Amino acid sequence: MSVYNFCAGPAMLPAEVMAKAQKELVDFHGLGVSVMELSHRSKEYLAVANAAEANLRELMGISDDYAVLFTHGGARAHFSAIPLNLAGADDQVDYLISGQWSAGAAQEAAKYAQVNRIDLRVGNGLEMTRAGEAGQGAYLHYCPNETVDGVAIFDEPDSDQPLIADYSSCILGREIDINRYGLIYAGAQKNVGPAGLALVIVRRDLIGQAQPTTPSILDYGLLDKHDSMYNTPPTYAWYLAGEVFKWIKAQGGVAAMAELNRHKAALLYDFIDSGDFYQNRVDPSHRSEMNVPFQLANPDLDAAFLAQSQQAGLMALKGHRSVGGMRASLYNAMPIEGVQALVAFMKAFELQHK
Ligand code: PMP
Repeated sequence: MSVYNFCAGPAMLPAEVMAKAQKELVDFHGLGVSVMELSHRSKEYLAVANAAEANLRELMGISDDYAVLFTHGGARAHFSAIPLNLAGADDQVDYLISGQWSAGAAQEAAKYAQVNRIDLRVGNGLEMTRAGEAGQGAYLHYCPNETVDGVAIFDEPDSDQPLIADYSSCILGREIDINRYGLIYAGAQKNVGPAGLALVIVRRDLIGQAQPTTPSILDYGLLDKHDSMYNTPPTYAWYLAGEVFKWIKAQGGVAAMAELNRHKAALLYDFIDSGDFYQNRVDPSHRSEMNVPFQLANPDLDAAFLAQSQQAGLMALKGHRSVGGMRASLYNAMPIEGVQALVAFMKAFELQHK
């Protein structure tokens, strides 16, 4: 039986990448040791690290005006690092709130700068025109894909401020013009690799003026100067991320991923919308392609749905504890067959319980 893992993160990684990592685990390129046992300063490891960065730059069209940092601490480290690096303690910074993660980012930033919260949420959608209320702050932060709420912002907010975005759950899943951003960041454990690693892509002219109290390992200027090796980086996670980048290139790049992701999401939303047994309450223009929360009209059936889906090889469909119901995460590594299997299961479950 095929197993499809719908976990929101840590999430499934491409089967080909996992098979290659397994093959190389104890003997990397004939060296007789694992890549995780190599010095981060060895020529063999530097080749891995540099190839990963070069492939990411190619996939996302990142010019030399931007630093690409491979960092510790997941995405949350950057909830703190962003205000520390890009604003003074007395500066205003603007945060668009579209769900739980952007709210969390704003809450953390308030320790280090003067946060102006602009809550876009109305009913089941977002009032994007309210983004125009920003404009004073050192930067404008938003979250293009709210992993918990299943809410996406597809068009960048219009602003002359440096635009900062938390791409944790959609990086490399859709095409973006990086030149529109001051900084984007992402925890790795959805579309990139194992948890713990985070990517930061930041315009170089914005860094180098961190607040004096900034911990060194969060100082973007220092990290850039040391090629992300100011301290020992998460070497194995960086290696696996590099393998994921090669895999995405082999699939046809971000454009091919984006097309497949649209197709996968449409398959599931169309089915959910086709009856009233299942529901997704997000305004259709802001429905995430990566995380699809859905409810059963009769929540008494939730436990049976979860137990039977697990038995059918459909893992981790339980919704976030704050939302309840179900959530299917459909990141790049989820093949179309996984979504087809999920829809077939949902149809059969509905017939059984209607
Ligand atoms: N931002 C978003 C959008 C997320 O989905 C997550 C993790 N689910 C985070 C931030 C936090 O990431 P981490 O746990 O790597 O700090």
